[in-house]
Amino acid sequence: MPPYEPADSVVSPRFTGIRTFMRLPHVRVLIEADVAVVGVPFDSGASFRPGARFGPEAIRSLSVLLRRYHPDLKLDLFRDVSVIDYGDCAVVPGSVEQTLMRVATQLRLVVDAGVTPLVLGGDHSITLAVLRALAARHGPLALVHCDAHSDTWEDFYGQRYDHGTTIRRAVEEGLLRPERSVQIGLRGPLFGPEDWEQSRRLGMAVWPAAEMHSVGITTIGERARERVGDAPSYVSFDIDVLDPAFAPGTGTPEVGGLATREAIELLVALRGVDLVGADVVEVSPPYDGAGITALAAANVLHTLLGLIAYRRTPTGGTR
Ligand code: MN
Ligand code: MN
Repeated sequence: MPPYEPADSVVSPRFTGIRTFMRLPHVRVLIEADVAVVGVPFDSGASFRPGARFGPEAIRSLSVLLRRYHPDLKLDLFRDVSVIDYGDCAVVPGSVEQTLMRVATQLRLVVDAGVTPLVLGGDHSITLAVLRALAARHGPLALVHCDAHSDTWEDFYGQRYDHGTTIRRAVEEGLLRPERSVQIGLRGPLFGPEDWEQSRRLGMAVWPAAEMHSVGITTIGERARERVGDAPSYVSFDIDVLDPAFAPGTGTPEVGGLATREAIELLVALRGVDLVGADVVEVSPPYDGAGITALAAANVLHTLLGLIAYRRTPTGGTR
């Protein structure tokens, strides 16, 4: 039996206790953990609405509703995998570059202990820190990037580090394998056609939301799994890939996105990938009146945890 698992909500009701992800133990010792849930409460990289610094807190709060069995993946997330809530990384409000350096250093402790990080953002700038920590151990990663936006701009307002430049910086720093990477769910309006072309020039596949809707969600997910292959891989899930009807609480909403159910289907179709880390970013609770964005994020994280567990079950293979 893995040493760390959630509190039993049949014994103590889910509204009791200190809010950790899925009511997991808050543990700062990594020795008996397989997966660590880590918050990065930072939003100084946001270009429009702020508030994602409160994302980890809101996601944890709604995550107490999650239960341990995943019906689509057909597995108990905690049967073979020991999971902790590691708490939050220390950040530097107002400085993206300082935050990236410090968060990468903190996450190196997790990654170098052989523990898989599952990260709660934070705006999308923080993904660069996670990728730096992971690539230092695993080498360049295959990326499945779910987002309304490409995040491959050269700079924003002259700044090279913000939530719209993350993926370009990651490619430039050699953290990714573009030929094994894909951006899913992009949609307009755009500044111009070069918005998506710049991603293709970096070597990544770009599958816009319109293509996803015509080809089918599961087919797109299976294509992503094929493109990733058996490479160590990372899923970065910007919650704005969901339609604002399903995720109003985010910094840069775009119409025409996925339903929450479709996002879960997309991720389930990735089962079997060698996931060495994942994040959900851009949840901004001040714009999330009823908590539905945080609830969606919690459920996406539940499936991402399921993908990690899937590789470690007898039927899903092990790493
Ligand atoms: Mn993004
Ligand atoms: Mn986005």
